[in-house]
Amino acid sequence: MTIFALSTSPGRGAIAIIRLSGDQTAPILEKLTGKPAPEARQASLRIITEPETGDPIDSGLVLYFQAPHSYTGEDMAELHIHGGVAIVDRLLDVLSGLEGLRPAEPGEFTRLAVLNGRMDLTQAEAVADMIDAETMAQQKQAFRQMQGALGVLYESWRQKLATSLAHLEADIEFADEDLPGGIGQAVLGEVAALSDEIAAHIHDDRGRTLRHGVEIAIIGAPNVGKSSLLNHIAGREAAIVSARAGTTRDIVEVSLTLGGVPALLADTAGIRAAGDEIEREGVRRALNKASEADIRLHVTAFGVAGDETTSDEARFQEGDLYIANKQDLGETSRPNTLNETDFFCVSAETGAGMSHLVAALNTRVQTSFGLTERPALTRTRHRIALQAADIALKRGLERAETGAELELVAEDLRLAMREIGRITGAVDVESLLDIVFRDFCIGK
Ligand code: GDP
Repeated sequence: MTIFALSTSPGRGAIAIIRLSGDQTAPILEKLTGKPAPEARQASLRIITEPETGDPIDSGLVLYFQAPHSYTGEDMAELHIHGGVAIVDRLLDVLSGLEGLRPAEPGEFTRLAVLNGRMDLTQAEAVADMIDAETMAQQKQAFRQMQGALGVLYESWRQKLATSLAHLEADIEFADEDLPGGIGQAVLGEVAALSDEIAAHIHDDRGRTLRHGVEIAIIGAPNVGKSSLLNHIAGREAAIVSARAGTTRDIVEVSLTLGGVPALLADTAGIRAAGDEIEREGVRRALNKASEADIRLHVTAFGVAGDETTSDEARFQEGDLYIANKQDLGETSRPNTLNETDFFCVSAETGAGMSHLVAALNTRVQTSFGLTERPALTRTRHRIALQAADIALKRGLERAETGAELELVAEDLRLAMREIGRITGAVDVESLLDIVFRDFCIGK
């Protein structure tokens, strides 16, 4: 069966691209253009007609890719036509009427690419990330993953395990013979090192944070200027600024880009012990937000009594910033528990100190959550598999230490290999396709 889909976004545009994939591609091109399929990979201008009537639909570029040198690994074509709604609709209609052709399912082109070994699952996921990327850091991360950086890393771990397993099995097999001893021990050393590497990778969550956005919560007592600060940082009137205490009862969030990294900045209800039920709910949510956030901006202000709610969620953690606002009214001195680099004197009213604060925030987000050279864990799916792999490895090591049979240790290594193989699709690819392609759109 040959599939087709509009691969550009629907609606009016200069150009629309319809893709075809499958063994009927070349005959269909001939039917549509009255000429044989063009040379592979050469753009050719053709008149596209309705095969039945010969009525012209549009003229456009036709590209033909011969299997296996195509995105899907099958014969493929791209029809670059004018992006008018009527033209696209008509051509899609004509294609639907042709024998051996059917509309593609969401993500089907990429799914075929995986099935035909053109890319692994992490690369397919990166295609989706590439399309969804909204900031430069997201796009860079997606691109690297699409080029295979993450898949190569996971595959190298699987290969290492395969080697360790082979050594261990040799050890088991020739246990009674005169082999130089100690292979088992060497293997266990390798496995322990790999387990550490995997654990460190799981711990480094920046890849996922980069995909979803860094969460920053602004917290502090009512009236210290949290909403004003949010507006200043976000550069627009996103939160209502009011002189009455306790106005921001719910959470106002703005998304912005800091140091190339997507961030969600949340203005929370002023944290204070008093207040009515609605306000208490606001405070509860604020504390919740504060505890979940990657970075907290703790705000105080000159002349505003800090309501000392010393709740755990609101405590100052490493990486947080402390902002003393309303410095136009008077000077706040730095609490001696704080580093100079974490303490900022500003005035949201006059703007004093604000550019310094925003610059520091950019740098902090970039260094803590920005891209590094090492490929980072990007998806929960990967993390779950890696955790399962690491549990198996640690169990194997423990067994070996307590003198259990080496067969059991080997079984743990096999399990770990399988889990890692599931990330790239080297193992179990069929059963993983639905999960990976759940969020894909048509034409991808
Ligand atoms: P929130 O309750 O913490 O969100 O505080 P708001 O942002 O609503 O500000 C409370 C009041 O303080 C408003 O009247 C603001 O105009 C005022 N305010 C905010 N920042 C400053 C500042 O830096 N200096 C002065 N003088 N007033 C400020």
